[in-house]
Amino acid sequence: MKPAPFRYFAPETLDEALSLLAEHGDEAKPLAGGQSLVPAMNFRLAQPAVLVDLNRIAALSFIRPDDAGGVVVGAMTRQRAVEHSELVAARAPLVTETVPYIAHAQIRNRGTFGGSLAHADPASELPAVALALDAQFTLACRSGQRVVPAEAFYTDLFETACGHEELLVDVRLPTAAAGSGFAFEELARRHGDYALVGVAVAVQRGADGTLIDARMAYLSVGPGPVLATRASASLLGTRGETEALRVAASLAAHEDIVDPPSDIHATAAYRRHLIEVLTVRALTRACSRAQEGA
Ligand SMILES: Cc1cc2nc3c(=O)[nH]c(=O)nc-3n(C[C@H](O)[C@H](O)[C@H](O)COP(=O)(O)OP(=O)(O)OC[C@H]3O[C@@H](n4cnc5c(N)ncnc54)[C@H](O)[C@@H]3O)c2cc1C
Repeated sequence: MKPAPFRYFAPETLDEALSLLAEHGDEAKPLAGGQSLVPAMNFRLAQPAVLVDLNRIAALSFIRPDDAGGVVVGAMTRQRAVEHSELVAARAPLVTETVPYIAHAQIRNRGTFGGSLAHADPASELPAVALALDAQFTLACRSGQRVVPAEAFYTDLFETACGHEELLVDVRLPTAAAGSGFAFEELARRHGDYALVGVAVAVQRGADGTLIDARMAYLSVGPGPVLATRASASLLGTRGETEALRVAASLAAHEDIVDPPSDIHATAAYRRHLIEVLTVRALTRACSRAQEGA
């Protein structure tokens, strides 16, 4: 398969890229690692008239600490670099645990952190992780920058708050506070396949050992990543006992996630079953890690 004809630009600065996007509006698309966009173009599911290649913009590729104890990842940082970053492992361990679930090493060598988040595939791992961590996305356009929380970034199926003239430039992952615990679980038919269901969990225990915060975000269960707010709220004040985890898992599967898809990969009923099983597994591990950390 071959893509429809397009014009190609390879700017070397962010300003240049933003000017090109402003000039060409919704006819243009940024190209990051190309691991989703290029196949979509080859199948003619995407037919941008203009491609703005971000690969020569060195300023978009970095991993650095932020003053608040978290970590900031530039949009063009390769997924593989994030996977092997000691800084990310120390400050955002949920990301380190999750990245190896994305496709295969060859794809992660080329695929970028920002490209995966901006693509907003409901079956992708990183959007759910960003939601569980309450990550902050920096969007830039020619007239300035704005910061959007992960929850507001994802608006619909493959849709985000990022406008045609904007670029995702970096993502701020908040620090893991004292008493925090994290875990990621998914089920895929084969290693490297997109998951049938996945869940990213972040919990925090207070000084008395009870849970004072819990965020659970799911992939492959709706049009985008889904935050299970009722299930998360049900955990607060508990110690993460087995029964509390079961209640939370049931709320997630039956109240927060209202309409999981039925498709050739899995029925809605099977996805609900997976939500319950994977939630209990992820919460058990996260709560136990929070115990160690408290
Ligand atoms: C065989 C195979 C298996 C895969 N399995 C998985 C998997 O299990 N889990 C998973 O999560 N992913 C999977 N992927 C996708 C992979 O993770 C991609 O790397 C990722 O989805 C897109 O990142 P990219 O850098 O390649 O972006 P691209 O493909 O270059 O771009 C993707 C989209 O995001 C837009 N975009 C890119 N960067 C920006 C930016 N900075 N600002 C605004 N918009 C931007 C592009 O215009 C495009 O619309 C798989 C891919 C393949 C080929």
